[in-house]
Amino acid sequence: MLSYQHIFHAGNHADVLKHIVLIHVLKHFLKKNTPFWMIDTHAGSGFYSLKEKYFIYSEFQDGIKKLWNCTYQPKIVSDYLNCIKKYNVDGLLRYYPGSPYISLDFLRKKDKLRLFEIHPGELKTLEKNIKIRTDQSIPKTIIKKTDGFNAIKMLLPPSSHRGIIFIDPSYEDKSDYRKVLIAIKDGLKRFCSGTYVIWYPKIGRIESKNMQLYLENLPVKCWLHISLNLRKISINGSRGLLGSGLFLINPPHTLYPEILDALPYLKNKLAQDDSVNYAVTFKENNIIL
Ligand code: SAM
Repeated sequence: MLSYQHIFHAGNHADVLKHIVLIHVLKHFLKKNTPFWMIDTHAGSGFYSLKEKYFIYSEFQDGIKKLWNCTYQPKIVSDYLNCIKKYNVDGLLRYYPGSPYISLDFLRKKDKLRLFEIHPGELKTLEKNIKIRTDQSIPKTIIKKTDGFNAIKMLLPPSSHRGIIFIDPSYEDKSDYRKVLIAIKDGLKRFCSGTYVIWYPKIGRIESKNMQLYLENLPVKCWLHISLNLRKISINGSRGLLGSGLFLINPPHTLYPEILDALPYLKNKLAQDDSVNYAVTFKENNIIL
């Protein structure tokens, strides 16, 4: 099923949470000199114009737009906004970088970026968008038109034994939930010290709930589970996003306190009704916080 196009969702509340976390993880990896790999299993087209003429309702209005002109933000949120502001230098919100562009803003020449995308249209735009990134300091980027769930088997473990595996499927097809779990199990066998970042939607599907339970029961020493629910029911009974979550295996230790600090702020800014709530669970060595 290849109807999903991220341009309709770019900058929405799910992207906000996901990219706040991604930027924090990338910054953490830069603290050491050793090179690392960034594997983006579901890359999208890399860069989005928020002013496309076919937009009837633009989801970024309920996402990044609600944070854009706020003067005070928790640190992790201002790091994110600073990254997006580089693409909107006159202060007007017109462009939104996807995960490949965000990664390129942080990776060093010695690191490696591997992007996977199977939608032919998205792939073509991604290739074009990566080609125009001619910054001196960016690493060589390889784009593969292959199922991103197989990226793990193809690439792990990275030669430097440091790596981020960013798994951000569209979940258009409910088999994606199962595929995430299989990919993670495979990944942990090959590279148990990797940092895995898994995004999932809150849409009231049993598959999503089962996936979360399974992830929380994985035999790993350290994980962090973040979720943000922004409304109770779908608008007009549609299958819209009620919120989203991120599950991280081997997260940076700085993420737990920083996201705890930011979530009350995000909850207030992004709420769509009064049922808004968030949760953060951190497990390390069998202790759950
Ligand atoms: N990660 C991007 C970001 O943060 O900017 C957004 C990715 S979007 C949620 C999911 C993307 O995965 C879509 O562009 C879709 O075409 C692509 N996709 C769907 N199934 C895939 C698969 N099995 N392998 C690789 N890409 C896939």
